[in-house]
Amino acid sequence: MSAAPPDLRQSVAYLKGVGPQRAEILNRIGLHRAADLLFYFPRDYQDMTEKREIEQLEESGQIQTVVGEIKESSRKSTRRGELLTLVIQCGDKILKGLWFKMSFIQREFGRGRRVMLTGKPKYEAPFWTMMHPQITYLGDNEDENEVEPFLPVYPLTEGLKQFHLRRIMREMLPLYIPLLDEVFPETYLSEHKLLPIAEAVKAIHFPPDKATQLWAKRRFVYQELFVLQLGLAMRRLQHQTHLKSVPLPIDAKIDTRIRQRFPFTLTKAQERVIKEITADMAKPVPMNRLLQGDVGSGKTVVALYAMLLAAAHGHQAVFMAPTEVLARQHLRTLTRMLEGSQVKIAPVFGGQKTAERSLVLQEIATGAAQIVIGTQAIIQNELPFQKLGLVVIDEQHKFGVMQRAALKTGEKFDPHYLVMTATPIPRSVTMTMFGDLDVSIMDGMPPGRQPVKTYIADPDRRTAWWDFVARKVREEHWQGYVVVPMIEDNENVLPLDDDIVSPPDTPLSSLFAVHAALSSGDLKGLRLAMIHGRMSTEEKERIMYDFRTGEIQILIATTVIEVGVDVPNANLLTIENAERFGLSQLHQLRGRIGRGKNPGYCTVFANAATEESQKRLKAFEKLSDGFKLAEKDFEIRGGGDLFGTQQHGIPPLRVADLVRDKEVLYEARQDAGEMVQSDPGLAKPEHAKLRKQMLNRYGKVLNLGDVG
Ligand code: ADP
Ligand code: MG
Repeated sequence: MSAAPPDLRQSVAYLKGVGPQRAEILNRIGLHRAADLLFYFPRDYQDMTEKREIEQLEESGQIQTVVGEIKESSRKSTRRGELLTLVIQCGDKILKGLWFKMSFIQREFGRGRRVMLTGKPKYEAPFWTMMHPQITYLGDNEDENEVEPFLPVYPLTEGLKQFHLRRIMREMLPLYIPLLDEVFPETYLSEHKLLPIAEAVKAIHFPPDKATQLWAKRRFVYQELFVLQLGLAMRRLQHQTHLKSVPLPIDAKIDTRIRQRFPFTLTKAQERVIKEITADMAKPVPMNRLLQGDVGSGKTVVALYAMLLAAAHGHQAVFMAPTEVLARQHLRTLTRMLEGSQVKIAPVFGGQKTAERSLVLQEIATGAAQIVIGTQAIIQNELPFQKLGLVVIDEQHKFGVMQRAALKTGEKFDPHYLVMTATPIPRSVTMTMFGDLDVSIMDGMPPGRQPVKTYIADPDRRTAWWDFVARKVREEHWQGYVVVPMIEDNENVLPLDDDIVSPPDTPLSSLFAVHAALSSGDLKGLRLAMIHGRMSTEEKERIMYDFRTGEIQILIATTVIEVGVDVPNANLLTIENAERFGLSQLHQLRGRIGRGKNPGYCTVFANAATEESQKRLKAFEKLSDGFKLAEKDFEIRGGGDLFGTQQHGIPPLRVADLVRDKEVLYEARQDAGEMVQSDPGLAKPEHAKLRKQMLNRYGKVLNLGDVG
């Protein structure tokens, strides 16, 4: 079209073989400039090294490729659905390609087209056949004897064919690749075994062999993760150099005083984590720590320890929970443990009477109250702290790097932060989503924790299970939960853990229906009640109270009880429609039981129609360690967009996959940490390009503005 000198920012419309119409199609899939095409990577490759003539085909189970011309295509209905046959002429021989339920292929492949079929050939006299082979057009001027050993297979869109895109790429790559700027210093590339950018781009589109393609891919994965880790490392550094907080060191006297408040000896894990926390709090920069501890591992006392340490120095602490039920439970626990001490707790809840609220606000403002408890939503509405020293956020798992509470302290000192989560997160995810935090892991349970037996039960075991439940409740005064996925019949199902999709037409049990059925059926005569998210806080509180005191024996609940609820006498858990719940959610639910002196029994009923849900439930039955479950969950669901992004503040990864590329991530994180340590502002000239790329991508989300 034009003879303008190549420029990476040039519109794709001016590339050879594109033109205005095709440019529009390319724009549709986000390809606007020449540079976009360079980084539009194949999703797969067609292996031409196994190209054979018909005479050379073997029934060896090996993938082989044949080139020919479509001679005829036909369709017929069979028991397995529609069968499409393409007859391919190769020289004077014939090969048949067969596909079930792929009628779109016929529209695409008219007679006379040259195609390549890749698959496992089978001889069915008198023809060779391939079942469901990979099929690719060859363009008119694509000579199969001259094409590259691995042909790229790109993600396409309507109106765009593989051979179009391949042709465009063949033309443009040699012209534009030389314009690419290498962001890594040359020595860095060789030290870290990274392909230089020009080689990597070339090889990812048209690899000379499999190994080179993998090296090319690795370079891009590494680069993506490394640049993100640079950003996170810079954020940590910035945090350490720009933010100040008041050191709140521990000493033997304070320590003894705090421990007197605990009704039990701390576990080894609790001791270790407390050491990590107190070391942080003794520093003049704010603690920024994530505490990951499995459900029931005893995070609350760890938080209390830290809060009492702040109080001992005359500073205030806030304790924020995601739900009011949980915040109120914390209020009760802490009130009990602090009975008779000097420490005063200020509860902040929605629906407080004006007089009560203004009293609480006054206690916060004057510093009369040292610990403030409430939900995040309320506390973030700017409370007038007198001297805020510590912020504890409990059960934070839907938030990431960016969403940490921003509390106004009205001072030039920032509070220390402790974020706690019972959702075990795979290490690779922690390193990215929470990558700017220090992480403490609390493994192991407090002594006396009872094992929970988990069963995936066939529907015909229902009666037996309810008999068991009724007997335990009557004879041994046990209590239990029944968890269902929705409140009423015919409603849109409650938002679930990270969008698990239920197969359509699965009948779902509703809260009301299950309550009605059990109270007049299998559990007749027992004291049943319901709890769900649409009840008022008072109602929920009253029900939780009655459940704790044993007044209610069986609580039928939605996932409102998922997080944190601690009623030790409840040890029977039934989950209906378990296929609707994610693994971490199931694990959270199971964490409600086995907290007392009796073993827990968890029975799940499910319509596990998909393979994924079956895998999920099997893992749930087999594994009880939350961290192992998290890794498994991650594996099952894939690292794609699961911990995706907007929700966590970080833009989606484009080439890297946190499941597949774990090892590269660990390496990139380590390397990025070292680079930022040796060159704190990335100020060295040889790091300028990396720095620029990092700021372009992450400067805003990571709030790195003033580094620039
Ligand atoms: P989570 O980590 O899930 O928030 P909690 O803090 O609610 O766990 O603790 C779970 C239960 O274990 C509570 O009943 C708590 O009192 C108890 N607990 C915590 N630490 C210990 C300990 N060191 N010894 C005995 N029981 C403990
Ligand atoms: Mg807790």
